[in-house]
Parts: sequence; C-alpha cells; structure tokens
Amino acid sequence: MKLITVIGAGTMGNGIAHVFAQKGFDVSLVDMSQDALDRALATIDKNLSRLVAKERISENDKKETLGRLVTSTDFKASVVGADLVVEAATENIDLKLKIFKDLDATAPEGCILATNTSSISITKIAAVTSRPDKVIGMHFMNPVPIMKLVEIIRGYATSDETCTKIMDLSSSLGKSPVEVNDYPGFVANRILMPMINEAIITLNEGVAGVEEIDTVMKLGMAHPMGPLQLADFIGLDVCLSIMKVLQDGLDASKYAPCPLLVNMVMAGKLGAKSGEGFYVHTRGSKDLVIAPTFVKEK
Ligand code: NAD
Repeated sequence: MKLITVIGAGTMGNGIAHVFAQKGFDVSLVDMSQDALDRALATIDKNLSRLVAKERISENDKKETLGRLVTSTDFKASVVGADLVVEAATENIDLKLKIFKDLDATAPEGCILATNTSSISITKIAAVTSRPDKVIGMHFMNPVPIMKLVEIIRGYATSDETCTKIMDLSSSLGKSPVEVNDYPGFVANRILMPMINEAIITLNEGVAGVEEIDTVMKLGMAHPMGPLQLADFIGLDVCLSIMKVLQDGLDASKYAPCPLLVNMVMAGKLGAKSGEGFYVHTRGSKDLVIAPTFVKEK
C-alpha cells in the first residue's frame, strides 16, 4: 500500500494522517472544511515538533513526514488513486452511508475502505457498497499517535484477506491490532461508554461532584483520567451518539443516555472541542478547571 486517503480532519483524522505519514505512506487528508484542514496541519506540525524536542525523531524526519502529507477539500481527486481509505468523518450514520456510497463509486476496484467509526455497524456501512468484502472497521484510539490499540472490526462480509491486510498494516504502524466482531459498540465502547454514562448519571443524581467522581476512578481504579474528563476529551456529542447506537442496537434501557448528557450536547457544551463540558478547556493549558455549572457552592 502506498497512498492512504483519510476522510475527515477532526480530532481523529489528523492523528491517523500523522501516523501513516510518519511511517512512510503518502497521505491525502480530506475535509469539506478548509478550516479543519488548516487546524489539522497545525496540530500535526505541533505534535511532530514535540517528538523532535524529545529527540524521538530528527528535524529531517519531521520535514519528510510533512512532505508526504497533502490536504484537500476535493473528495474525488483525493480518492481516485487510493490503496486504502480510512474514513474518520463525523459520527453520523446517514453521513457515513453517503460517504461510503461515494467512495465505492470513486475509489479503485481493489481499494480497501476502512471506517474509524466508534459504534456504527460495519455490516450496514458495507451493505451500501459493491465491495462489502473490502469494508472493515479500523478503530484507532485518541490520541492516535500515542495510543497503541487499533480495534479491527470484521463486518458480516469482510474477507479474511482484507482482515489480514489491515491487521498487518496496523502492526506495521507500530500499533497493536485486536480483531473483534461487528456488534453495537464493538468491544471498546460497549464497555467504556456505559461507564462514562453512569458517571454522568451519578453526577446528575448528586451522588458526588465532578472532581469527586473523577478522583474516585483515577485513584481507586488506576484510570489515567476520570470518566468525566475522558468524556470531555472524546467529545460529548460523540459519547451521546455512541449511547444511542447501543440503546437502539441492544434494545435495553440500561443504555439510555443520561438526560444531562443530552442537555449538554443540545446546549453546545461538547467538551474540549467546544471549550467547555464538565471542565473548561483553554487552548494551550492543561489545568483542570471545573465548568461553572458544576462548581459546588462552599
Ligand atoms: P470531529 O468532529 O472532531 O471531526 C469530524 C470531521 O469530519 C470534521 O472536521 C468535519 O468537517 C469532517 N467531515 C464531516 N463530513 C464530512 C465529509 N462529508 N467529507 C469530509 N469531511 C467531513 O470527529 P472525531 O472525534 O474526529 O470523530 C471522527 C470519527 O472517529 C467518528 O466516527 C468517531 O466516532 C470516531 N472516533 C472518535 C474518537 C474520539 O475520541 N473523538 C475515538 C475513536 C473513534
């Protein structure tokens, strides 16, 4: 594989493009928003500079990595020569089905079409293409350049050949791929997201505040960050859409999203990406500041 096209240049897309380019692949990063592409390039540049400062890569490695990366708002031109497409656009089923229909019509016949979806059925996405054997889930974790896991999801029709190629490719990126089957939430979010939702319910019921809930899970369970901080980091809109997929797909009330999560998303409090969720997020600052709504009165 030589040319990798990444669709969507948000939180995940920029990291996926970074990792492929750093490992020597030519990468075309596509978004419909020029702003998103500019922000993605700035993030990749900053993350590579951090690696240079830590002497993990040389200044020349950084230059070569950036040299293998192009950005574009032209979907068709970026897909026609691709060997692999990794779709990392917004978590919305109708959007993904439309993108995969367009990809199927545009990408070369042998091109594998992967999706980074957190929860949407790979089988459903594959069914809108004429190549379901070549459609697969390639679920990178956030932040992509740091996290080792790639959850590889086999749709109902994904072939052994496609699965082997993507498992091997993920290993060649220095990642640890794990193969799972296509059920709502797969493994990672089937387990993680109900825990995050329960943390939000616990907050909403007044059992404890933001700081207490996150501290219990950090110090008590050795989690590197608490579930509410993690929710902010993932994006509350992404958390909500994953809970809806679990609720619809597994048909159990235990997966109902907490009303507080629903309200926060409606209010545009999406976490780090919007500047406020359970915490206030200021660009360039790592301080944990609880959002005004959740500050306890002394
Ligand atoms: P995001 O909102 O940060 O970015 C999505 C990007 O997709 C935006 O820049 C948007 O402009 C772009 N986009 C939307 N429609 C498009 C189209 N038709 N063509 C090209 N670009 C388009 O979202 P994200 O958090 O990066 O999530 C992307 C995918 O990765 C989702 O499927 C999500 O479930 C999955 N994911 C997210 C995380 C996480 O922690 N955020 C972790 C693993 C997987």
